[in-house]
Amino acid sequence: MSTDHKILDGRTVAAGMYDDISHRAAELAASGFAPNLVSVSVGESDASRLYVRNQKRTAEKLGIGFDEREYPADISVDELTGVIGGLNTDPRVTGIIIQRPVPDHVPVRTLQAKIHPLKDVEGMHPSSIGNIVYNELVMGPCTAVASVELLKKTGLELKGLEVVIIGHSEIVGKPIAFLLMSEGATVTVCHHMTRNLRVHSRQADAVFVAVGKPGLVTGDMIKPGAALIDIGINQITDTDGNSKVVGDADFDSCLETAGWITPVPGGVGPVTVAVLMRNSVTAAELIKTRYEGQFGQA
Ligand code: NAD
Repeated sequence: MSTDHKILDGRTVAAGMYDDISHRAAELAASGFAPNLVSVSVGESDASRLYVRNQKRTAEKLGIGFDEREYPADISVDELTGVIGGLNTDPRVTGIIIQRPVPDHVPVRTLQAKIHPLKDVEGMHPSSIGNIVYNELVMGPCTAVASVELLKKTGLELKGLEVVIIGHSEIVGKPIAFLLMSEGATVTVCHHMTRNLRVHSRQADAVFVAVGKPGLVTGDMIKPGAALIDIGINQITDTDGNSKVVGDADFDSCLETAGWITPVPGGVGPVTVAVLMRNSVTAAELIKTRYEGQFGQA
């Protein structure tokens, strides 16, 4: 039996979002409120350099400005706070991205909280997180929103759906839980202290996994026909000595059991970038509305 229909292809889902985003970006530019992102990277990281290149290419294709700023690994937290403050008050900047990873001395959450909520395109400011707790999705955390978008592509009815989320980080697992509760799903959140993961995962109509452990979820841990959204990104070396990127699921065994599965790469990743771009036009639209409310039409 062909298994193609089981694969939730993130590149196709992302491509389906881009028309609307580029149209909104063009309208903003025409009214003098062109969306402009600034990406802040601290220290050297090959992984983050690849993400930034990808984000820049996508942004520019959609008509969203993208300015890359790199700071040395030994920059102080005060200096970085000053950088964020400057970007907050710069009217040409409509969105700020803090690239991960950051060096150990940089408290990324504290920095995130310094970003003006209207420029918080990553959806990680406490007020953005608060909005999803109150069922008001304005600019949600990109990976969490992308993961839920992918589940929606299955056509499963979310009301009453039994969902298990494995991983309870602030940027992925917890926001997914809130987003799904807003949709009426019944949510169980598992983590490293969960006693028997498979007892939970085998009950679920949909499983999200965001842990960072290759092969954590195997086909026998999934209910036949369930949806599996794999958020993990792990660099491994295969038996031939080649390096490759895999998710947290053992893809082959899960493909056998699951009704739908996201590949890694090519699943959650591309949709995450698309959500970041969608948040970026939303931010510029909100800034435009705020400006017009204060000063009238531009
Ligand atoms: P994190 O380290 O902050 O959290 C890991 C979570 O996994 C914790 O909740 C922990 O309790 C749980 N955990 C650890 N061991 C476990 C086990 N044996 N059983 C069950 N739960 C366990 O990680 P994070 O930042 O949420 O990232 C998780 C993964 O998602 C990583 O691979 C990361 O690279 C990936 N990620 C992907 C995207 C994307 O756009 N696709 C974005 C962010 C993170």
